[in-house]
Amino acid sequence: MQIKKLVIEDETAIGSMIKFALESEGYQVTLTENGRDAQDALSRELPELKLVDWMLPGTSGIELIRGFRRQAATLRTPIIMVTAKTGEEDLLSGLEAGADDYITKPFSTRELLARINALLRRAEAFDDGEGTLEMGDIILDPASHELTISGQSVTPGPTEYRLLKFLMQHPDRVYSRGQLLDYVWGENVYIEERTVDVHILRLRKLLRKHGVDNLLQTVRGSGYRFSTRPKE
Ligand code: CA
Repeated sequence: MQIKKLVIEDETAIGSMIKFALESEGYQVTLTENGRDAQDALSRELPELKLVDWMLPGTSGIELIRGFRRQAATLRTPIIMVTAKTGEEDLLSGLEAGADDYITKPFSTRELLARINALLRRAEAFDDGEGTLEMGDIILDPASHELTISGQSVTPGPTEYRLLKFLMQHPDRVYSRGQLLDYVWGENVYIEERTVDVHILRLRKLLRKHGVDNLLQTVRGSGYRFSTRPKE
């Protein structure tokens, strides 16, 4: 099966460069220039990965990413944000909107491919069939990707899902940001440690909605742990 990618980029030169680089690697690529065309493409075919430019005519890339994360069909597809913005606040707001990773312009095709492959590997590594994980009122089924909290079906973003799964597989242990980056994101991926905090925050928000955020505990000076025991 060919892995399909959707690229949303209005700058023709960059869009063509990405399309060419990905097709040379054997990926099937749909290139669109704005959000409306992207939605059209999505109604025909769902990609395994999306690359979304931040600055787009009409709806911005950030708004598009937020929208993708609200739709059941596109909720779990990994997203890489492509941006000329390099400010930390800008990048964090991209991650908060729902991107799994970002790449800043100008970038080499080598860097782009490395990031795509790392993201797909991470998605795959967490696809393995395993027994159901249960902690308190939280039930996670790795085989079906179903998450149930207090009897309600919940759909986290892909990174929050992986993070929660990892923490549920290793309860009561404290993990530093660096360790979580290695275990959840993969050892060869360069991502800042603050990224972990962003995803922890998102996961905590989701758990709070269902009244179970007390399980996700911050251990001052050390990191995070997932536990049904009260916080020390
Ligand atoms: Ca642009």
